[in-house]
Amino acid sequence: MKENCGVVGVFNVKEAGKILYLSLFSLQHRGQESCGFVLSDFKNVYIHRGMGLVEDVFSKVNFENIKGNFGIGHVRYSTTGSSSEKNIQPFVVEYKGKIYAIAHNGNLVNSYSLRKKLEEEGTLFQTTLDTEIIMHLIFKSKKNEFVEKLIDGLEKLKGAYSLVIFTEEGIYAVKDPNGFRPLCLGKLEDGYIVSSESCAFDLIGGEYLREIEEGEILFIGKNGLKSYYLKKNKISRCIFEFIYFARPDSKVFGKSVYIARKKLGERLAEELPFKGEIVIPVPDSGNIAAIGLAEKLKIPFEMGFIRNHYIGRTFIKPFQTSRELGVKIKLNVVPEVIKNKDIIVVEDSIVRGTTSTLRIKELRKAGVRKVYMAISCPPIKYPCFYGIDFPSKKELIASDKDIKEIREIIGLDGLYYLSLEGMLSAISLPSDEFCTACFTGNYSVETIDFKGKEQFEI
Ligand code: 5GP
Ligand code: MG
Repeated sequence: MKENCGVVGVFNVKEAGKILYLSLFSLQHRGQESCGFVLSDFKNVYIHRGMGLVEDVFSKVNFENIKGNFGIGHVRYSTTGSSSEKNIQPFVVEYKGKIYAIAHNGNLVNSYSLRKKLEEEGTLFQTTLDTEIIMHLIFKSKKNEFVEKLIDGLEKLKGAYSLVIFTEEGIYAVKDPNGFRPLCLGKLEDGYIVSSESCAFDLIGGEYLREIEEGEILFIGKNGLKSYYLKKNKISRCIFEFIYFARPDSKVFGKSVYIARKKLGERLAEELPFKGEIVIPVPDSGNIAAIGLAEKLKIPFEMGFIRNHYIGRTFIKPFQTSRELGVKIKLNVVPEVIKNKDIIVVEDSIVRGTTSTLRIKELRKAGVRKVYMAISCPPIKYPCFYGIDFPSKKELIASDKDIKEIREIIGLDGLYYLSLEGMLSAISLPSDEFCTACFTGNYSVETIDFKGKEQFEI
């Protein structure tokens, strides 16, 4: 199971319920399948979780009754199978009369062997979540203090995990030693907030402080902040957070996503082998790179696709047979913008190539003259084992096809992917500290555990 998720935690605030709710709302793009929070006022613990969007799951909650002073929250998006109620996070347990909860963003690569070993020892699992494995490992530790147990447990994990952990004394924010997924710290009046992305801080008046370090375990409790550290490893920040996943108004890994995307577009303009009259983005994910590209090429930026913002995940269910309709409902072409023009369409990425194919067809129908496509990252050839929803190799269009073949399948007059160097140079973080496995196949943490498991075919 692969998880694209968002996590948040707050400590020492007046209305933890409302703050977590607003934060989850601003992290909604990181997962739309289910969400939840666990909070406390140091006396009672309140848990609310459900399937669906934040707005719907919390619509019946009376926030006046559950103010709370601290807590954690999660938005979840899963791909393979297990889209079930029992997998909703935060994952909550009771141990020696106290409540503990974990919310997880990322994907472990040794969960298969860890689960197998735990099961052989007699551990019973209620879910298929990696998160439950983490919980068992923590409490199996022979150490006394919770934080020692936590370190003991975490040291057995391999792969991606940005975690927020609820204890009745305070919250922990944890980032794996490779630092695959983002997690940042903000200040909130007398309290603190940790979140996958900084856009959550803006909505609630929080001030950005810093990114959680790779391998850092930050405890936020009544005595303030205290950090512990796991053994160092090769830093492997997910570059796809900048390309597609994070919101452009966020900072991830300490850097502005907007600035990074714009630079990706500028760099694309320098490399681009063809010319066009106008630049149009595929909204929303292509918007910022398209601005950078158009500005650099000194040609107009136009909105040739208009997005319907009201489309939810369930709206097209009755029409499930028609992918065309699904694509058209989300984005509609403005013929007046593109008719008889040579256009450069900017996309952040091509995964399977299926949506792109349908979108190009729509442009042709609307009378475009020549249609070129510029992609603000290199071809995605390898699956992600660290939390991004990339399918198995055989579903990735670029895994076995060259650019000419992809251009023909999608029906383009020209196709250009940003070079690996171009992509890396657009973001002001050390190039060798990025995970680029989906482009290069160089996985910084072994993925051996997945071999032989059908759904994780490499
Ligand atoms: P394709 O043409 O490969 O079918 O679709 C490309 C589109 O998928 C792009 O617009 C890109 O923004 C979007 N995309 C890239 N990565 C992801 C992801 O992890 N999840 C979802 N839902 N869409 C993605
Ligand atoms: Mg997109």
